[in-house]
Amino acid sequence: MKVTFLGTGTSQGVPVIGCTCEVCRSLDFRDKRLRTSILVEIGHQNFIIDTGPDFRQQMLREQVKRINAVIFTHAHRDHTAGLDDVRAYNFMQEMDMPVYGTEEVLEQLKIEYAYAFAKEYYPGIPRLKLHTIDAGAFNVNGVTFLPLPVMHYRLPVLGFRIGDFSYITDANYIPPETMEKLKGTRTLVLNALQREQHVSHFNLTQALEMVETIGPNHTYFTHISHRLGLHADVEKELPDHVSLAFDGLVFGH
Ligand SMILES: [Zn+2]
Ligand SMILES: [Zn+2]
Ligand SMILES: [Zn+2]
Repeated sequence: MKVTFLGTGTSQGVPVIGCTCEVCRSLDFRDKRLRTSILVEIGHQNFIIDTGPDFRQQMLREQVKRINAVIFTHAHRDHTAGLDDVRAYNFMQEMDMPVYGTEEVLEQLKIEYAYAFAKEYYPGIPRLKLHTIDAGAFNVNGVTFLPLPVMHYRLPVLGFRIGDFSYITDANYIPPETMEKLKGTRTLVLNALQREQHVSHFNLTQALEMVETIGPNHTYFTHISHRLGLHADVEKELPDHVSLAFDGLVFGH
């Protein structure tokens, strides 16, 4: 399994439009964060978790030639706004794009992309094949995904576990049942938004506490705000078994 961070930024991305803070003005490429998404490669299959507003740019940067399925964590726009651009893969692969999400997420997609679900077919629209998932494990072409239900303020969100890799992007609470499902995780990706408390995301301190409770070999933090600080500075503060992710970072697993 190979995981590529397509984007590691919070909903506004980094830099933030109009902001002149030192992070937004930083020349370090690791301080340039597109909206949060990953590519998971297993064998010859490519799975994309979330298609945010930067999806097109991410696919061009990583030269992704094929996508076997798109899997959604939740329906916030910073995770869904790029879905229209799966059209490129509809054309290349000559098939509808398999899309996995909870009933609530798929209903939201039907509202936001109403034209893709219109009764009368309009040429050139994205072609999506929807698959409803819940908290139970599901299988995509022989790969098992175990949903990890978490809370994002009041919104239920899914993380996903694939083998001993677990991915949680938008959470400020992990319920006990999900802590059970996380047991034995070797590599964890977890959101760590900023230093201050936040209503719907773990801050840095809380994320580090979760790492100690879950106990993976290595953790990467993602969904990062410009308010967290310069990548190079934050990295120095973290223990050896925790890193800040950055766009384009790849790890084998
Ligand atoms: Zn988000
Ligand atoms: Zn800024
Ligand atoms: Zn969100």
